[in-house]
Amino acid sequence: MKKSLLTLLFFCCFIAAKAQQTNVYNQNGYKLIFVNYDATFDPTLQQRMVKTFFTVYPELANAYNKNTLKTVTMVIDTAYKGVAATANGKVTISYKWMHQHPEDIDVITHEVMHIVQDYGDSNGPGWLTEGIADYARFKFGVNNDAAKWSLHDYKAGQNYTDAYRTTARFLVWIEAKYKPGIVVELDSQMRKHTYTDDIWKQQTGKTLDELWKNYTENPAI
Ligand SMILES: [Zn+2]
Repeated sequence: MKKSLLTLLFFCCFIAAKAQQTNVYNQNGYKLIFVNYDATFDPTLQQRMVKTFFTVYPELANAYNKNTLKTVTMVIDTAYKGVAATANGKVTISYKWMHQHPEDIDVITHEVMHIVQDYGDSNGPGWLTEGIADYARFKFGVNNDAAKWSLHDYKAGQNYTDAYRTTARFLVWIEAKYKPGIVVELDSQMRKHTYTDDIWKQQTGKTLDELWKNYTENPAI
């Protein structure tokens, strides 16, 4: 009995050790540490994810924050219950999500934008943080069409505080109608912790609520 338990323990440890694989990739001054806990993960998908990282991360750094981290860790996690999350230079992605949505590799684009954002304990609103991350996915994503990911049309009842794609679409609209480049400015002020609600009026001549009202009346982009 004791022996079989030991054998079983050994077997489990062996499986756990085998399931975790770490690959380190270096390209153009950036390093990606890719940790995979899923023994059944498709290596081709891993290659596509690595390629996506080295495509979009330098572009985002260039567009928004050249001082962003040079080393990023990405974990394909078998225990994590959400879709994806980012903290302290580490992107955690659900193995289950990627199995079910193998085209959704621009999850990476959204998540690494959070590293570029680096707002820390920002004084700015959380809905704007998530809106800018989805705006970045919309603008810099490499596989959104295949993933059937797009900015949904405006629907009555939405608000700019809904975050994610709803806010992202509003930002696209503001850039088209009022102020190209406002997202760069918003992002910069969020990072410097100088964001106030006045920024909308300074940049566009309209308050945030006035902009939203105009958007709801003519939301075409
Ligand atoms: Zn996010």
